[in-house]
Amino acid sequence: MHEFSVARSLLHSASRICREQGFVRPVEVTVQIGPLSGVESLLLQSAFEQQAAVHAAVPARLVIEQTPLVIRCLDCETESNLPDYDFRCRACDSRAVRVIGGDQLLLVSVTAEGDDDRPEGAP
Ligand SMILES: [Zn+2]
Repeated sequence: MHEFSVARSLLHSASRICREQGFVRPVEVTVQIGPLSGVESLLLQSAFEQQAAVHAAVPARLVIEQTPLVIRCLDCETESNLPDYDFRCRACDSRAVRVIGGDQLLLVSVTAEGDDDRPEGAP
C-alpha cells in the first residue's frame, strides 16, 4: 500500500526534524496533498495512525490540507484553480495547459513537544 510507505516516511522526517531542533517528539504533522499526488487522504490518515500506534514513542497526529489543482495556460499564461479535472483554461478555454500545482505531497509543518517535562503548575 502506497500510503503506508508515505506515512512511514512522514513520521521519519518529522522525528528527524524534531531531533535536529532539540525536541523530543512530534505531536502534530501537517501535510498538503494535491488531488494529483496519487495519495488518498483517508488511507494516509489511517496508515499514519497505524504507524504512530506501532511506534508508541511517536504519538503524532496528522493534519491533512487539501491543495487545489492549479494549471497555467500555455496560450494566455492565466493560472486557474480547477474544481474538477476539466483541464481547460478558465480565461480563454484553451486546452493547452500545464499543471503547476496539486500534484505534490508536502510536509508543511511539524509541531513538537519540548524536552522540558516539568508537570504543569509545578513551581
Ligand atoms: Zn488561456
